[in-house]
Amino acid sequence: MKVLSRIKPFLFFLLCCTAWSAVCFVLPFFIDNPVESFNGILLLVGYCIAVSFGIFVLLYLAAANRYVFALFFPIFCVLGAVVAYFRYAFKATITPMIIDASLHNDFQTTYELITVPLVLFVLLNLIVSIVAVSYRWRKITVKNAWLHIFIAMAMLLLLFNVSSRLKSSLMQRYPFNVYESFMIYRELQQKIAEDRICPDMQHYNRTDSLKVVLVMGESLRADHLSLNGYSRQTMPYLSQQTNLVSLSDVYSEYTYTNRSVPHILTRADSITENLAFNETSFITIFNNAGFQSAWISCQDPAYSYVAFTAECDTLIYTHPEKSVYVYSDWFDNEMLTPFDSLSLKGTPRQLTVFHMIGSHWYYNNHVLTECERFKPVTTNRTVTANTAEAIINSYDNTVVTADLFLHQLFCRLEQEKAIVIFLSDHGEILGENGQWLHASDNEVVRHPACLVWYSNAYKTTYPQKVAALKQNATLHYRTDFLFHSILSAANIPSPIIDDNLNIFSCHK
Ligand SMILES: [Zn+2]
Repeated sequence: MKVLSRIKPFLFFLLCCTAWSAVCFVLPFFIDNPVESFNGILLLVGYCIAVSFGIFVLLYLAAANRYVFALFFPIFCVLGAVVAYFRYAFKATITPMIIDASLHNDFQTTYELITVPLVLFVLLNLIVSIVAVSYRWRKITVKNAWLHIFIAMAMLLLLFNVSSRLKSSLMQRYPFNVYESFMIYRELQQKIAEDRICPDMQHYNRTDSLKVVLVMGESLRADHLSLNGYSRQTMPYLSQQTNLVSLSDVYSEYTYTNRSVPHILTRADSITENLAFNETSFITIFNNAGFQSAWISCQDPAYSYVAFTAECDTLIYTHPEKSVYVYSDWFDNEMLTPFDSLSLKGTPRQLTVFHMIGSHWYYNNHVLTECERFKPVTTNRTVTANTAEAIINSYDNTVVTADLFLHQLFCRLEQEKAIVIFLSDHGEILGENGQWLHASDNEVVRHPACLVWYSNAYKTTYPQKVAALKQNATLHYRTDFLFHSILSAANIPSPIIDDNLNIFSCHK
């Protein structure tokens, strides 16, 4: 009891600092999360408390020593105010891409982001932190500081190891997300710097003008395309396209983005999987053949494929400030604006890789209003708190949105000599065996959607390729086909093309 009464003022002080931090820096991360059910709200409050507890332990650790606290707390509050303000006002979070952009930003761009409310919020937090530091310095005495530091460290260790879900939730919120993003940024830079071998170093020059586009879809399963016989009309635009072929039997070995994307982009196949990690993608071969390459992404980069983005002449993230923990709208068709700018430059040979957010959970966040064809939709960020009907409706609305995006892309290329290959990285589980989303082992997640579109000029130039494509539409392919087929689509006559994996070569 004596011990408790001695540390009471310290504990009270810590609780006050935590309460301030919870309101200012934690709440903005949760306030816009979609929840309607009681259980959903309860879970959200639980995460809110867990993050606040994490901050409490961090402050406990820092405040054990008044010198450390005097240095730590003002920085913690000022940085927290900036991060929370952008999360609340712009639904923007700190990501490795934001760090990259900040490090390479010009002064003008940074200056434009500074607003009066931001300055006031930062100032308020600076004043509060100075008052807190001064109070800690003058009024709080902490005996056995090392013991407190030891207890705080043990608590922190426990908090981050009790559950992986809790850990990833903590790592997405302030202040842990700042640390996490810097660590990821550093590792991404290391991945880019790693050496990869280009499987074919020749410089081909067979085409004068051609636009080749790879659209990497996200979680789009083949059987939810009306083009493949799905009972719902999920592709109102593309079902009217004549220059379009659906490859309805594509198999993906991998069930999640980070493993699937490197496999798709490189020569890796089921026997030589390691080529996904030590060879360059087809992009370098395109570069050597005189193509201007661009990677336009609606997703964030990952260790496994960041090196391929660096192979491109241009790299654009349309939403570097978003992560899947930010429940706000962002759409694939926003990638068309930078695509238009690049097209205006008029380079005769262009390779563009689009990386869609597509049908990634939380589905509604990526559905355009005009594409909300199926209702009712989900209202809760926890998958299982929604009805199966609502989840499938929301999912199918993402397919309608993808249909519009692809339609808008094809319209832009109609008058050019152009070819577009759309391939989803994997499918999505929609209630089969009681499972949802992807990355689990379920047969339905291994059947991604795949479409190929060509312009009239392309068809006139390469009639045999188009004829072979049509003939091959129903054949079974693994996603391994992409590397070989995209080189063939661009008429790059590389000897490393495996003709069995070339959808533009006759197999029947
Ligand atoms: Zn994916």
